[in-house]
Amino acid sequence: MATPPRDALRFETRAIHVGQEPEELYGAVNVPIYQTSTYAQPAVGRPKRYDYARGGNPTREAFQTALASLEGGVRALAFGSGLAAEATLLLTLSPGDRVLLPDDVYGGTYRLLARVLAAWGLGHDVVDMTDPDALRAAIRPETRLVWIETPTNPLLKIVDIGACAEIAHAAGARCVVDNTFATPYLQRPLELGADVVVHSVTKYLGGHSDLVMGALVTNDEELAERLAFLQNAVGAVPGPMDCYLALRGLKTLAVRMRAHCEGARAVAAFLAEHPRVVRVHYPGLPQHPGHAVAARQMADFGGMVSFEVGSEAEAVRIAESTELFFLAESLGGVESLIEVPAPMTHASVAGSPLAVPPTLIRLSVGLEHPEDLIADLARALG
Ligand SMILES: *Cc1c(COP(=O)(O)O)cnc(C)c1O
Repeated sequence: MATPPRDALRFETRAIHVGQEPEELYGAVNVPIYQTSTYAQPAVGRPKRYDYARGGNPTREAFQTALASLEGGVRALAFGSGLAAEATLLLTLSPGDRVLLPDDVYGGTYRLLARVLAAWGLGHDVVDMTDPDALRAAIRPETRLVWIETPTNPLLKIVDIGACAEIAHAAGARCVVDNTFATPYLQRPLELGADVVVHSVTKYLGGHSDLVMGALVTNDEELAERLAFLQNAVGAVPGPMDCYLALRGLKTLAVRMRAHCEGARAVAAFLAEHPRVVRVHYPGLPQHPGHAVAARQMADFGGMVSFEVGSEAEAVRIAESTELFFLAESLGGVESLIEVPAPMTHASVAGSPLAVPPTLIRLSVGLEHPEDLIADLARALG
């Protein structure tokens, strides 16, 4: 029987096979780490496939090809970090253009626009994107990008991607989705109408807290060409070792995400019943305001949970008392992490419209046994 075309294969299979033929010389089943900055050319002005590694590297290309397939895009491009990917995307805009951001956008994205690109003439506005009418009203004639995050960080709010993309397009703007929290296994924004997907590969795609990397994926050929030009012209590219680790992460993304979701579901259910917990934010809980939209646009509800306790001091005490949950920033790795966003990940947005409650604790639920994680939280909550 003939092998079906690669794009007809299922997600788990594509994650392991697309862009990843056995290597030609010795048949290595893993794409090698091509640790080289340049490539010998057989004749002047006629390089083989690559000439210089800022422009292209086989390990990077394998990762990009696999990720484009998983997100359903025509092209993916890898960068040295999530923020490098974002900065490169924003360089497609011109002075005077504006970006519309959600009111709990990732703090680094906000900082990039408010404290770096504002000086270059790029404007931004902030709106609650869970309210389509507010979104429509906040779009200005200069708005070129509507920037979505869903689920958001750290309040796990859910934004309707299809509805927002439609509003953006009607106003002549592109719709960008930061898909870091959901990953393409749970949510594919391009299929829902978005034009560009942004990733911090550092998180779930890498999955093992051992690299910093970013990516852009688009289904717009013209934009893909421009972004590929900028990837080389600006040069914020990742090294081959990180591309290898990220590609290895992709292979297990489906099984990891299933286990992250299962663990988070159990942890959220435990927290929802605990007397010390004031409020739990998890889109998988039926009482979550975004539950219905999440159930429609996601395959499952993800591995992130946040919750509020009685006071700031209590939040700090709990975050400093867990043993399995490491007190650390970042998320999406095999090990569980706990943090207090207000003084940690979200310190840079204190006093801004993006400020979060100081009594909030954020969990990245890892792949340990959920019962052990619940016992750890039970001990810390006291
Ligand atoms: C971490 C993160 C980023 C930034 O990515 P880096 O790889 O740290 O540069 C962007 N968006 C979200 C949602 C993130 O969690």
